[in-house]
Amino acid sequence: MTESVYDVCVVGGGPAGLAAAIAVRQYGLTVILLDRAIPPIDKACGEGLMPDSLRALAQLGVTLPTQAGFNFRGIRFVDDHSCVSADFPNGTGIAIRRTVLQQLLIEAAERAGVALRWGTGTVHLQKSGVASDKLIARARWIVGADGLNSQIRHQAGLDRCRVERTRYGFRRHFRVAPWSSYMEVYWGARCQAYVSPVSGEEMCIAVISQDPKLRLTEALAGLPQLERRIRGAQPVSREMGALSVTRKLRRVHRDRLALLGDASGSVDAVTGEGMCLSFKQAAALARAIRSGDLEKYQEEHNRLGSRTHSMAALLRVALESQTGLRQRILASLARRPRVFESLLAIHIGERGFLDLWPRGVFEFGSAFLSG
Ligand SMILES: Cc1cc2nc3c(=O)[nH]c(=O)nc-3n(C[C@H](O)[C@H](O)[C@H](O)COP(=O)(O)OP(=O)(O)OC[C@H]3O[C@@H](n4cnc5c(N)ncnc54)[C@H](O)[C@@H]3O)c2cc1C
Repeated sequence: MTESVYDVCVVGGGPAGLAAAIAVRQYGLTVILLDRAIPPIDKACGEGLMPDSLRALAQLGVTLPTQAGFNFRGIRFVDDHSCVSADFPNGTGIAIRRTVLQQLLIEAAERAGVALRWGTGTVHLQKSGVASDKLIARARWIVGADGLNSQIRHQAGLDRCRVERTRYGFRRHFRVAPWSSYMEVYWGARCQAYVSPVSGEEMCIAVISQDPKLRLTEALAGLPQLERRIRGAQPVSREMGALSVTRKLRRVHRDRLALLGDASGSVDAVTGEGMCLSFKQAAALARAIRSGDLEKYQEEHNRLGSRTHSMAALLRVALESQTGLRQRILASLARRPRVFESLLAIHIGERGFLDLWPRGVFEFGSAFLSG
């Protein structure tokens, strides 16, 4: 069994763990990253990175080449009656296969000098580091980036959470040319489908619902507009499931251990901001580790998540509750696309909620009442 000593040990090599390892290396600390699995590690995901995600990655020195995925200009909401689109106020997003994104982050981590250990088997906390059946890593700081069902969180006694909501996601890729330059969200009575063009000939479709048994084929039957688009298209990946959990932890650190990414709490998949939050948390955590004060990370973590949690709550109340209300809201937004544009700008942090007041609220209100 090998044993090594580092400044920082990161458990989990998903987007959060890799971003954290790169961020910490920017301060010259030595970092080892351990993951029980071996790349390429896939995960059910909408695979969309909004412009704020790309900016957060750029701050870590990571630029995604355009040809690695497919650029999209904004978001489009579609239901049986309405369709409304908005462009991002500045820049584009990129839709990218999870496995491709992971490979690019691995290469960036290697260039930064992170020691990467894959296939370690499940990693557990120890007194002065972590260990698996295969290795022991001693480190001054431990970062738990081991995903939604984090073992590290559990072992550190940080499981207490404030809010919880669970939905079920299934995703699959289809060989079909993108029919739009937007990332689209189709709203149905039982589910939503997120549709991202991950290349010039491939679309990722992820369905989210509260029904654990609702698989893609059945879900698509309730979304005829989308079903027509992909009818006959060849599936090029297997259907993969994942939980979408809304969870706010009471605390994200203890002693010299901090949690990051989905391990540190998560937002509903409808926001498309899970990875973005991880990248921003990574930078904040690296700063806190450098200053030796993880309480600063706690404050930043709370601040970073608050807008995304508010938008998720708004989407849930407005669009998921009753079909009639959702149809009326979407129809009103379609008549006032400027309001939808403002909401998208708020969602990605380009504007604040107050920017909607009073004009946007009155515009939307009059469209809603006259509908
Ligand atoms: C259906 C769906 C759609 C989504 N769409 C989007 C989207 O479009 N855009 C977006 O930004 N976000 C999206 N998200 C959210 C996004 O997928 C997550 O926020 C993101 O994957 C979190 O990354 P992570 O690194 O924290 O966790 P993960 O990606 O889960 O990585 C955790 C890593 O830890 C490893 N690991 C776990 N336990 C251990 C252990 N004990 N020891 C060692 N290694 C371990 C795993 O092998 C894995 O590699 C979506 C989520 C869902 C469910």
